Parts: sequence; C-alpha cells; structure tokens
Amino acid sequence: NTQSPVSLPTTTTEFPNSHEVGEASITPWFLDNKFYVSSSTDFIDVYDPSTNKLVTRVPESTDAELLAAVDSAEKAFPAWSATSVLTRQQIMFKLVALIRENWDRLAAVITIEQGKTVADAKGDVLRGLQVAEAACGATELLKGEVLSLGKDLETRTYLEPLGVVGVICPFNFPAMIPLWSLPVATVTGNTVVMKPSERDPGAAMIIAELCQKAGFPEGVVNVIHGAHKAVNFILDEPRIKAISFVGSNKAGEYVYTRGSANGKRVQANLGAKNHALVLPDSDKSQALNAIAGAAFGAAGQRCMALSVLLLQGEATTWLPDLVEIAKKLSVNGGFEAGAELGPVISPQSKARIEELIASAEKEGATILLDGRGFKPQGEQFANGNWVGPTIITGVKPHMQCYKEEIFGPVLVCADVASLDEGIEFINANEYGNGVAIFTSSGPAADYFRRGIQAGQVGINVPIPVPLPMFSFTGNKRSVAGGGATTFYGRPGIRFYTQQQTVTSRWAISQALKSGKAEVVMPTHS
Ligand code: NAD
Repeated sequence: NTQSPVSLPTTTTEFPNSHEVGEASITPWFLDNKFYVSSSTDFIDVYDPSTNKLVTRVPESTDAELLAAVDSAEKAFPAWSATSVLTRQQIMFKLVALIRENWDRLAAVITIEQGKTVADAKGDVLRGLQVAEAACGATELLKGEVLSLGKDLETRTYLEPLGVVGVICPFNFPAMIPLWSLPVATVTGNTVVMKPSERDPGAAMIIAELCQKAGFPEGVVNVIHGAHKAVNFILDEPRIKAISFVGSNKAGEYVYTRGSANGKRVQANLGAKNHALVLPDSDKSQALNAIAGAAFGAAGQRCMALSVLLLQGEATTWLPDLVEIAKKLSVNGGFEAGAELGPVISPQSKARIEELIASAEKEGATILLDGRGFKPQGEQFANGNWVGPTIITGVKPHMQCYKEEIFGPVLVCADVASLDEGIEFINANEYGNGVAIFTSSGPAADYFRRGIQAGQVGINVPIPVPLPMFSFTGNKRSVAGGGATTFYGRPGIRFYTQQQTVTSRWAISQALKSGKAEVVMPTHS
C-alpha cells in the first residue's frame, strides 16, 4: 500500500446532531493500524435513515486492498499468536476502557447511520463491550485440560489460535456484532479481517481506531469494505481459516455453504421470528409493557425482537391495552428528547414492511394499529424511513406476514386455546432464535421450557439474550449448521481455537527397557 494514511473523518467522529452533519465523508479502510482512503471508484452511499441525507460513502474495497488486508493479518499472526496471553489480556483491558470512554461517540455514529435512538445505541455498545470484558478472562478460558493416566503417562489439551479469521457483520447492531467476534478472536491469538455492514460501518471504524490505541500490533485488526464482492473474497481466500457471520438467511446460508465447502470453520447466526406466549395468570401490565418494548424497540430491527404474540384464555382480551401502550411510544429522530424508536434502515425496507402489512390485510388479518404513513413532527424528518408501531390480529401461520421475518415495528398476533397449542404453534415455525413466556406459574414455565424448540427462552423476560459468560444459542433455521458453533462464551473460545492433545510418557516403560516394539493399538490403560 503506497498511500498516505488519513485520520477518521470528522463526520464519523463528531456528531453534534444527525441533521446538522456537514459534508458527507468517505469512510476509510483500516490496514496496519492506519486509515486509508480507498482507491476504489465504486461506492455505497450511507444515508441518515431519519432524513435520508447522505452521511458517508463506503468504498467497495479493491482487489489489491482486500489482498493487502489478508497479507497484513497473515504477517501479524506469528508474533501475535506467540505473544503471552497476559499481554493480550492487558490490551483487552485497555480496549474495554477505551470503549467506555468513547461510548457516547460510538452511540452517536450508530444513531446517525442506523437510526436507532441514542439510548438504544448506548445499549448496542454496552452489549458488545460486555463481550470484550468477558474476553479479558482469556487467562482462565484458554486453560487446557490434563489427565494423568497412571504414574508415567498423561494427556493434556492446548487451545491454539487458527490464523487469520474473517468477520462479516449485519446493519442492525453496528457496535455489538463486531464486538461479538473481534475481542474473542484476537484475545485467543488470531488476527482479523473484518467487513462491517456497508450500511453503517461507522462504529466498526471507531472500534478499529480504539484497537490501535489499545496497543494491538499492526495487522492484528484490519477492516475492509463492500458487499457481495468483499464477502466472496473472505469466503474464497485460502489464508482465512474461519468466518463469523451474522445476518439474514439469504446471505448466511450461502456464506455457510460456500465457506464450509472451502474447508473453513463457519459460524453463522441468521434470521428469526420470535414468539411471546402470554398466559392469563401473568402480570398483565408487566407482560404488555415488556412485549411492546421488545416488539417495537429499535423499530423491530433486532434479531431477538418479539414479532409474534400468542395470547391464551383471558389474555386474549388484553389487545386493546397493548394498542394503547404502543400508541404512546414516541417515534422520532434518534437524537430527539424522549424518542423511543427511530426510523427503519432504508426506503426499501420501509416499502417492504408496508407491503407485508398490506398483504396481511389482503389475506384476512385485521390491522388493529396501523403504522403506515406515520411521520414525526419536524421538517427535517419529512423524508425519513418512518413506520409507526403496527399490531395485526387474527394472523394464521400460512400468511406472508407470519412466514417472513418483517424486521420492522410490526407485531402479529394470534389466539391459542391452551399452553400445549401455544407450544405446538411456536414449534411449527422454522426459526428458533428466541421465545418468551409470560406467566406467574413456575410449573407452566418449566413445562413450556421443556417443550419448546427455541435456543433462547425468556420467562417473564422479553429479550433473553444471555450475558457473554454464556453463549448466543439460536436454534433451527436461526443458525447455520445446526448451531454447533455459537458466538462468545466458552463455545466462542472453542470456535476460534484449534484443540491439540498431547500424550506424553516421561518414564522409561518396561517395553522401552526391554527394547521390544509395542504393535498393538495403545490404550493408555
Ligand atoms: P444481510 O444478510 O443483508 O447482511 C449481512 C452481511 O452479509 C452484510 O455484511 C452484507 O454485506 C452481506 N451480504 C448481504 N447479502 C449478501 C449476499 N447475497 N452475498 C454475500 N454477502 C451478502 O443482513 P442485514 O439486513 O444486514 O441484517 C439483518 C438480518 O440479520 C436479520 O435477518 C436479522 O435477524 C439477522 N441478525 C441475526 C442475528 C442473530 O444473532 N441471529 C443478530 C443480528 C441480526
């Protein structure tokens, strides 16, 4: 790379207010701890979803830039993997402190590029930060095992880094998802080539800057840009040993298949349709508020959003109260005081969501609360991608609004006759990311838990994503490859490491003393 480094442009570092952002910048890429302006001529434009004003232009990294990123990561690997885990842990401590210091700045870029409210963006950063904090436990997590097999024989395990790993991110959690992978991959001794979402790369770029400040050596973290071409490069480049992907089923199933066919480890978290089952013995107000928050928060653009509501018994009469709660939610620009949900990511996404609402109507469901045509006050938001909270009732499993992940502030509802019917309804869905039951009955909750085929179960908890001392455990079509390799926690450490076992004998055995070869398969018994 013969170019001169640049600093991260101010439009992605200083955010007085989303609608006061100055001239659109070009998002740089990150190589050897420095930012460079890409020499690409192809750009993907990023617009503030609340105004549709241009914020930044994201380059499609050139072939030479893609290769340079892997060259850099490959070159950095021998020294980084040989660096003491104590040193890597110290760098991770610093990264954690720097993310905390830059929390507001990270949240601001998320609000500008992705649209979620600042308070929600701060949560996005925090959930990623917690993964980095958990990764500081590498000194404990990387311990191998040892078993003594008699007085002179033992087997021990080591967890060795893989090499260069690729990270491909979605748009909906611009800080959290890069941080699901980056801290775990690097603290275990790997080097990283990351491709943030082309729709909101700003937070990942700030994280790259913080990695340099935290003391990561050159080449341990590199950031490339683009969409399909950059993804295909990661899938096919032989020096990339493992891929972490989070995104839609369409892209993720392709990434899993092609990456695996190329002999790589692939972990891929995909789409969802998460159900809440409300039993009449639940605390009504707690349940309805939790459901409204989880269905409409982040404009429904969370993979763990509760997008289907099943009501049983007396609870089937609670919908008017839910509508009242949803109506009161403040939909506004993410920087505006009191805003509770922002716009959806793009005009295309808004159009798709509105089409799905219309399809529900056509297929015989009832639109109890219609968010189509919603606009917040203020001229500056006139062109934003707004959809207000929407509640659809009388939904049947064959309807398009039920079958597809809507990824917008739309809750589809149905009644069920019993707990068993609720379980059956949910299990018939092809996705299995998360589920929640609202009840005051311990036995009912336990019966539900045992019967339900979802990876993450909430009992009176709407978005049951566990903290990173556990793992993110989707199920069924919400994960590729049957969910054998999950993100962060101990399984995350396993994903980024190769197990090596060593069996050693440190005493002279009878056989060796007698000089006679042992030809039968050793059993170590
Ligand atoms: P997306 O699949 O459109 O994009 C994800 C990544 O894949 C991006 O980096 C993009 O550049 C790339 N990509 C997109 N299409 C591609 C293709 N055809 N070929 C190669 N690469 C491609 O996903 P998104 O819209 O950014 O994110 C939303 C989706 O992510 C939702 O389905 C959501 O449920 C899912 N998600 C899942 C989890 C989880 O943990 N299960 C978490 C967050 C988001």
